[in-house]
Formats: sequence, C-alpha cells, structure tokens
Amino acid sequence: MNPSIRKPLIAGNWKMYKTIGETEEFFTQLEPLVNGVNHCEMVIAPPFTALRRASEVAAPLGVGISAQDLYWETEGAWTGEVSAKMICDAGCRYSIIGHSERRQFFSESDRSVNRKIKAAHGAGLEAIVCVGELLAEREAGQTEKVLEKQLTGGLAALTEPDFSRIIIAYEPVWAIGTGRTATPEIAQEAHRFIRSRLGQLISPGAAERVRVLYGGSVKPDNIAGLMAQPDIDGALVGGASLQAKSFAAIVNFQGR
Ligand code: PEP
Repeated sequence: MNPSIRKPLIAGNWKMYKTIGETEEFFTQLEPLVNGVNHCEMVIAPPFTALRRASEVAAPLGVGISAQDLYWETEGAWTGEVSAKMICDAGCRYSIIGHSERRQFFSESDRSVNRKIKAAHGAGLEAIVCVGELLAEREAGQTEKVLEKQLTGGLAALTEPDFSRIIIAYEPVWAIGTGRTATPEIAQEAHRFIRSRLGQLISPGAAERVRVLYGGSVKPDNIAGLMAQPDIDGALVGGASLQAKSFAAIVNFQGR
C-alpha cells in the first residue's frame, strides 16, 4: 500500500446473500464499528434486490455501494439483465465486472468484460475489474500469461482518463472461498506484474494511480500482512464481508 498515492479501498462482495432486511441489519451493526474511518474507502456489493436500500442506509456511514455485475446494453429486450444506468439509479457508484464466478459459471469473457467496463463508464460508474488465474494455470507456470491476456482483452481501447475509474482486483481463483489465501509475497508478485503491465498499457504514471486490490479468503487475521505490501491497495472480500464485525475488522486493518 502506498497511501500517499492511492487511497486504500476495502470492498465486500456479498454474492447471492442477504435480503433487504438483512442488509439493513448489517449496516446498523456496522455503524459504530466504522464510525470516523477515513484512512480507506469502504464499499459493499449487495445483490441487485438490495442495492437501493443499501445505498440509503450506507450513505451516512460513508460506505459506497457497488453492483456485482451489469449488462452492457442501455435498455431493450434482454430478459433478466440490468443496465449500468439502472445500477446508477439504484444509488451505486461502482460495479464489479468479470468476477471469476461470472467467468467460470456464466461464460464471461474478456470481450464481455471490456464491453461492460465501457458501459459502466458511460453511466458514470467506477469499474472493479477482476482478474486471476486458476490453480492449474498457476501450477503450470501460466499466471503471468493469464493475467496478461485478461488485462489486454478486458482493458482494450480504454484511454488514460478511463483508468481513473478503474480498480483492478487480483483474485487467484484457487484462493476464493477456499480458506487458502495467497501469501503476501505471492500476492505482491502478481500485483507488481499487474501494475507494470498497466504501465505498458497506459503510462507508468497512470499505473501508479490505479488501485489494485487483493481478493481470496481475506480475513481479519491476514489483512495486515497483505496491506503491508507496496502494490496491494486494499481487498475484495467475500465470506468475511457478510458479518459487520469481520468486515469492520478488515477495514480497521491498522488497529483502532
Ligand atoms: C470474492 O468473492 O471475491 C472472494 C474473494 O471471496 P472470499 O473472500 O470468500 O474468498
């Protein structure tokens, strides 16, 4: 983390968990635990059905709301899809794009990631773009090749100003929901590679300003070691973001 250039960001991805009532309860419990936090940005990504209510109850706490996905068309006969404009209308400032669960189970490709980023930007949203390798790819020594492909395809034809509204989340797929976190050193190595690749795609100066989050079994007891790495600017947290107490403990990684 280098807070003089990049403000740390801790984001929670709730996946398909929590009703509107459970969302309200979470933010009621979170309020005293994050009162006065300004060392980092806080974001929660609830399911679509809870976005509107979450944006209302999270605003006084200074927590931004993110969607977990979007569709790139603005409107039309696309049954089941939700546009970037609708997500903004529900009070969101961010959208996660290209999460590994979307890539694995819903055929998300680098091309669709790229279209979704452009749609998000068109509606004024910041994009939290997920990249990361499978276990077999890591074991075959393909990690950098996979990241290279995801970054080049997903971020194709974006301009330097676009990168001020891009947040990258490095999420090795083998670490998501498995309890198996990348060591801080392994994560740092991937983050350094991502930043150097961004430097080639945009400019070294702009790459220094892009936040690169780590995701994969982040918990209160491993966040400090990850945040001590120079290229890790925050975390995208799944399971541990579902309880206010553990999410707040991750937000307060420097101690309170
Ligand atoms: C995620 O869903 O992006 C994630 C990192 O999940 P978990 O923290 O549960 O591994």
